[in-house]
Amino acid sequence: MAEITLNHIYKRYDNKFEAVKDFNLDIKDKEFIVFVGPSGCGKSTTLRMIAGLEDISDGDLVIGDKRVNDVAPKDRDIAMVFQNYALYPHMNVYDNMAFGLKLRKFDKKEIERRVTDAARILGLESLLDRKPKALSGGQRQRVALGRAIVRDPKVFLMDEPLSNLDAKLRVQMRAEISKLHQRLQTTTIYVTHDQTEAMTMATRIVIMKDGVIQQVGSPKEVYDAPDNVFVGGFIGSPAMNFFRGTLEDGNFKMGDVKVKVPEGKMKTLRENGYLNKEIMLGIRPEDIHDEPVFIESSQDTKVTAAIDVAELMGAETYLYSKLADQDFVARVDSRTDIQNGQNINLAFDMNKCHFFDTDSELRIK
Ligand code: ATP
Repeated sequence: MAEITLNHIYKRYDNKFEAVKDFNLDIKDKEFIVFVGPSGCGKSTTLRMIAGLEDISDGDLVIGDKRVNDVAPKDRDIAMVFQNYALYPHMNVYDNMAFGLKLRKFDKKEIERRVTDAARILGLESLLDRKPKALSGGQRQRVALGRAIVRDPKVFLMDEPLSNLDAKLRVQMRAEISKLHQRLQTTTIYVTHDQTEAMTMATRIVIMKDGVIQQVGSPKEVYDAPDNVFVGGFIGSPAMNFFRGTLEDGNFKMGDVKVKVPEGKMKTLRENGYLNKEIMLGIRPEDIHDEPVFIESSQDTKVTAAIDVAELMGAETYLYSKLADQDFVARVDSRTDIQNGQNINLAFDMNKCHFFDTDSELRIK
């Protein structure tokens, strides 16, 4: 069992700069938690505090049922996998994996059993005699994982473990780490700036900005119901579109363009005092459609837009355009042969859109 609780955790550098502010999170046993956010948002600092590599300025860190703020890293029963793998260059794969166990005075038979097991799980059996320099990036990363696995810790901590791999290998290793987690069920905290890694691997995502948690939720929750403009824009690729406009009774208006707001949403907005006020509309690229059947049935959310660029991605095409001088992108099936500069009809699926307050940038619920 490895539940982890972070209670009002702060990190201050030089007693003033707050890199992490009032971080609260309950991590359940067996969860795969991903901390995600732009560079400098405090995700590595938080992970390093959990590992014990960084002092906690304020708050309580509890692993299992023990407060561990002052417990040395080696006594926290966690294993960390770093971005740069941190392998010993003079040792072969076997010894790299066995090293931590030798330090902890495990007996030789047990070490052999654990290293062999980990090597089998990770497909490293034929590489045990090689030195790190004779391995590919992906193989090195697997050895780094192996070194964590053999410890059989309560918790895995991973700090951008895939960022040194090329795009294809990253996708492959991403799936391998997910499979590994399904198999071992070890509580894992994983740090990345890559929202795709967060979406595909996490049981829950923690989105951070400027040292502050913006939202915690399952990938589906944060995708379908972002709490604020930052989360809406950070999760999803291409990013959510945001339009500034005014809320009239029944319509969202930007310049000469009007789209009808469904009555359910309109009621909430009216009750919250947004009528005739400036407001922000958020809509995902896949919720702006070009199919004639959809447009036919959505005349009151239909817009005409000149396509600046049509980017063919394969099965789908990204259409970049502007409405009332505001940039947006629609993600459509690659059925039609759309030319740059062409005017086309699109329709907003307003049941899927969100409204945000222009000052607080919070989603209006
Ligand atoms: P990245 O993805 O770039 O690693 P991150 O989200 O992991 O970013 P952190 O490394 O946690 O960010 O850093 C958070 C903030 O704390 C940054 O503004 C960083 O400059 C600052 N910081 C980190 N270490 C120190 C330090 N030793 N002294 C002062 N400030 C620090």
